[in-house]
Amino acid sequence: MRILTLPALLAGLIVLTACGTDNKTTSDPDREKASPQTTASEQTVETKNAEAKPSVEEQAPAGKLPDGVRPTAYRLDLTLDPRQDTFHGQVEIDIEVDKATDHIWMHGNNIDVADIKAIVPAQGDEKEKEVAAHYRQMLDSGVVRVDFAGGIPAGKITLHTRYSAPFDKNLAGLFKVEEKGDAYALAKSESIQARRFLPGFDEPGLKATYDISLTIPKGYKAISNGLETERVDAGNGMEKVTFAQTRPMPTYLLSLAVGPFDVVERPDIPANKYRKEPLPLRGFARKGRGKDMAYVLDKTPEMLRIFEEQLQRPYPFRKLDIIAAPQWPSGATELSAAITYREQRILVEGDEPAPGLRLALLGVHAHEIAHMWFGNLVTPPWWDDLWLKEGFATWGTPLALTIMEPDGGHDLNAAVRAISAMKLDSLASTRAIREPITDNNNIRNAYDAITYSKSLGVIHMVDEYFGADTFRPALGRYIEKFADGVADSPDFYKVIGDETESPQLTETFRTFVEQKGVPLLSLTMNCNTDGEASVIVQQQRYKPLGSPISETGQQWSIPFCMRTNTGVAQCEFLSDSQQEIAVSGGACPKWVMPNVNGSGYYRFNMDEKYWQALLGEFDNLNPTERLSLIDSAFAAFESGKLKPGTLLEVVRLSATSDKRQVVEAPLGYLAKYADHYIEDANAARWQAFLKEQYGKKAQDLADNTDSESKLLRSRLLGFLALEGKDKDTRKQLQQQAELFTGFNRERDPTALDSDLYESALTVAIQDSGKDFLDHLIKVRSELDDPLFESASANAMGRVIDPLQLDTIHQLALSDNMGAREAFGLIQNALIEPELQARNWQWLRDNFAEVVAKIPEQWRRNTPRFGANFCDQQYLKQVQLLFTQQQKLVPGYQRALAQTEEGINLCLALKQNGQALVSSLD
Ligand SMILES: [Zn+2]
Repeated sequence: MRILTLPALLAGLIVLTACGTDNKTTSDPDREKASPQTTASEQTVETKNAEAKPSVEEQAPAGKLPDGVRPTAYRLDLTLDPRQDTFHGQVEIDIEVDKATDHIWMHGNNIDVADIKAIVPAQGDEKEKEVAAHYRQMLDSGVVRVDFAGGIPAGKITLHTRYSAPFDKNLAGLFKVEEKGDAYALAKSESIQARRFLPGFDEPGLKATYDISLTIPKGYKAISNGLETERVDAGNGMEKVTFAQTRPMPTYLLSLAVGPFDVVERPDIPANKYRKEPLPLRGFARKGRGKDMAYVLDKTPEMLRIFEEQLQRPYPFRKLDIIAAPQWPSGATELSAAITYREQRILVEGDEPAPGLRLALLGVHAHEIAHMWFGNLVTPPWWDDLWLKEGFATWGTPLALTIMEPDGGHDLNAAVRAISAMKLDSLASTRAIREPITDNNNIRNAYDAITYSKSLGVIHMVDEYFGADTFRPALGRYIEKFADGVADSPDFYKVIGDETESPQLTETFRTFVEQKGVPLLSLTMNCNTDGEASVIVQQQRYKPLGSPISETGQQWSIPFCMRTNTGVAQCEFLSDSQQEIAVSGGACPKWVMPNVNGSGYYRFNMDEKYWQALLGEFDNLNPTERLSLIDSAFAAFESGKLKPGTLLEVVRLSATSDKRQVVEAPLGYLAKYADHYIEDANAARWQAFLKEQYGKKAQDLADNTDSESKLLRSRLLGFLALEGKDKDTRKQLQQQAELFTGFNRERDPTALDSDLYESALTVAIQDSGKDFLDHLIKVRSELDDPLFESASANAMGRVIDPLQLDTIHQLALSDNMGAREAFGLIQNALIEPELQARNWQWLRDNFAEVVAKIPEQWRRNTPRFGANFCDQQYLKQVQLLFTQQQKLVPGYQRALAQTEEGINLCLALKQNGQALVSSLD
């Protein structure tokens, strides 16, 4: 990082002060001096004193708040009318303060505080007293300092605040959206956005109870974390709704939603061995869409029961609401007892969703239900321990789904997911699962494949090696011990280590959670002495060609299992950089599978002879082992250690598999190679290779009616059309898209299922002539189908006619396109090689408008718009753009570093990639 000189630092502070929210506050005699409108002479004074004593701004905590101040209860009373632009109300917070002080730090962002004061209760001879307070936002990230005239004593106080704030328009904090003429207000608090509607202590570790009441338009529905207990007339066409007190919870799980929602009442979920009371279950969707909640509500009771049984703990809340929210900025958020989804993730028109939608729906729903224990009941104290909620919810998902559908392939989906994390984890610029977060702007960077999917892989590895009977009961006791409180990683390691009496298990967690990177296990056979064969296993960090990663200096405690031609699995705990394992039976193995069940979070490599021998066994390996093999083969190729011909053999073998996930495993790599390493002279040969592998397969699947076959067929058709440029497949998809949208003919809504929306519309945008774009824009506005809306936005990004660029650029920035859809359109516009340069130039010229348009929590990801580049010139331009525009996208550094590294690695692989294509014969 660049070191700032003192003048630069001060200049930065002054800018910050000038941009800060001008909060008109009360009663502080020093108010004028502390006002954000610092005068020129005061700036001079600040500059002079800066070296001697840090300014108030410099003292403001950029990350975690200082210890010693804890909220215990909130009483929140708001007037929320989604038809208005602002909301207002008041909050009382009971706070414990460890030491007498003249100020405290808390949170609030863009909130207009009308009145603030502290009440100090009577103590001994002293009567209850009121203390004047002064509220001031110090940092753009929403850090607030409250000063007390004359100070407050140690002990309990109550802070009273009356305030108002605007409804956000970028889906952050308490935001409002309009759909089909109706306005809805919804609160998206995770991670640090509750501070936009509640001046409080917006940190996961600061849990407190909430008593909430909302004054809303008469007849509107209101949703919060507690059960609705009372609704009374409030005059002027308004009603006051009161909710039951919550269990202690953090601000990021607050639910507040108001609007003319449809409500779907379901029978209570019956009591069981773990839960004494029946549980009320309801669904909420925007007006007219309640009927599409049936599928998700049907699945809910069984899922909930499975988690209760697996954890042997009751669902922790007194009701469960499932909310399909229009424009929700995340896929879903686990708000306590009021789980909220982006509507297209859970609304299902008709009886049965398309296979891909169905899998995604079950996956997200199980994940959110798992959170009710992992995160909501036991909460990480700070964002660096995010994995304790996200990793466990991700791991719990295939577990629950496999119990529901033993043959559903959910174990393979989990393996695919863990492997997908290895791709990110191969970068030097990856994160560790647990890494310090000292700046609020970096919090959202922790929400990545490392936290979710690597954690899943690591937890799965431990569960498999040490046994579900050891690990899972310990997990239940960990939840019981920390219920209603917080637990960090050291707490977790300790409880799990004590409960299982397995220090190695704790060591595995520690080395995988606190270190970056994927272990690479290199196997060498030691077969010199007859009857005493052994396998030497060396561990180092995996490193692709062109990577700055150092291979030495890192070591993991790895639960390792291999199987040889004897059929016996041999397990060893690897904790040295090199270990020798005697082969049972003593004979030199004919082949070795170095990752039994594919459950180890590591990659392997061997010499060519053993690769060939293992490929000879491909069809006898179980499907998760095949997935591990495919991943390790591509990884070895990308580090320059596997022959192109051997890799092509892996691709051929995988394509013949009877498991969808195995067939699909190479597709991402092949798409990348098709984009960057195919020269014109080789294109036809490459396309023929892809068609040979996948064309017939897709045809053969056409008659199958099971959902895995249908899903695989959709994926293969999309791949053949877009990456394989296959004319027949393109024709077929084009016709389906034209029929489905009614282009120059009557519309047939059955012509396309939602799994094929994006690929078919992309083909039609490119092949159906220039009128198709206008037609698609019109159909978009007529259909009420959020999946179609996002797929068509992505497709429109891939126009190849330069005359259509103005249309799509204007559309992306207009009110006719949602914030998330606009992001998708722009991202796709940078994929299509024909117009990549012009789209990139447009993005650079309009960067500020683009940033203003897209959802706030995604802005830090804008460097990833350059993720598809594989070129030095573009790399420089990406770096320049973000040097110039960094103020617009706080927290962008991680995404930029990973994008830069991705481009460099793509360049470094060029020669080998081209050799792969040339080796086709
Ligand atoms: Zn989650």
